[in-house]
Amino acid sequence: MDFKLTTLGTSAAGPIPGRWASGQYLKTGTTGLLIDCGEGLQIALQQHGLGWSSIDVILISHLHGDHIYGLPGLLTSWGLYQRNTPLTIIGPADLAPYLDAVFGYSHTRMPYPVHYIFVDANVDRTLVYEDECIEVYTLPLSHRIPTVGYLVQEKERPRTILGTAIKEYQIPYKEIPAIKSGADYQAASGEVIPNALLTHDPPPIRSFVYASDTRPNPDLLPYIKGVDILFHEATFLHELADQADLSGHSTARQAAEMARQAQVKQLIIGHFSPRYGDLRPLLAEAQSIFPNTALAKEGKVFEVPYGGRTI
Ligand SMILES: [Zn+2]
Ligand SMILES: [Zn+2]
Repeated sequence: MDFKLTTLGTSAAGPIPGRWASGQYLKTGTTGLLIDCGEGLQIALQQHGLGWSSIDVILISHLHGDHIYGLPGLLTSWGLYQRNTPLTIIGPADLAPYLDAVFGYSHTRMPYPVHYIFVDANVDRTLVYEDECIEVYTLPLSHRIPTVGYLVQEKERPRTILGTAIKEYQIPYKEIPAIKSGADYQAASGEVIPNALLTHDPPPIRSFVYASDTRPNPDLLPYIKGVDILFHEATFLHELADQADLSGHSTARQAAEMARQAQVKQLIIGHFSPRYGDLRPLLAEAQSIFPNTALAKEGKVFEVPYGGRTI
């Protein structure tokens, strides 16, 4: 069961040589999610073998161009490549008229079903999507226009029943679902076998948070405690903290402080201002506060193993 993030685009504003505008891909056990889609991102997807069959759901954080200018092109290409499976797009309500206008003026018709789910940036945490494996929630961010973050987490799994216990207590098949849900087992003799002797804990649920674009937002903290991966934007070094605040962004130090306060397991920083050719100072600034920080990089994969992280 995968839980694997690929950072595809790490540039704030527009794409620059070597860095695409915003975009990430999260592969879970059942579902492939694309998160934001800056200009040209379809090339990054192709470079990493992520065709239309890899993506079931698109999450859009907000309507600034560096997060959505790649979307009409990507959706159009999927039509040309004969996509025939449904697509769910989750984002602000203005996304639909934006895409309708582009497709209307360019006489483009989607040959596959597109289902929209609209988010409300004024509500702190809302479940916007679920399937048999994962849940997706919106989270509150603080930017210049309505913007949401996303929490993607696995659903709780049933307890794992021990094969040896089934044999030893001769448990009939029909009793197994109840035991997996935590019930004790009453044997034919009347003896009650406690659940703890029959099962062990399921693997911990894995979780990922996407927080971009945003100022450091204390309202986010209660919802991101202990997540496996926090992607938090770090557009600037802290020497430009005033500029970050004015433009609704964060510094590397602020991203790291959020990670430290939330006690997340790993921080990934990205959405780098094009002014920074060398990203090492941003990494060093963040790591001085939260050591387990990594730089997002085009095509870099961050995986949370089944059974949880060991760090
Ligand atoms: Zn942006
Ligand atoms: Zn923005």
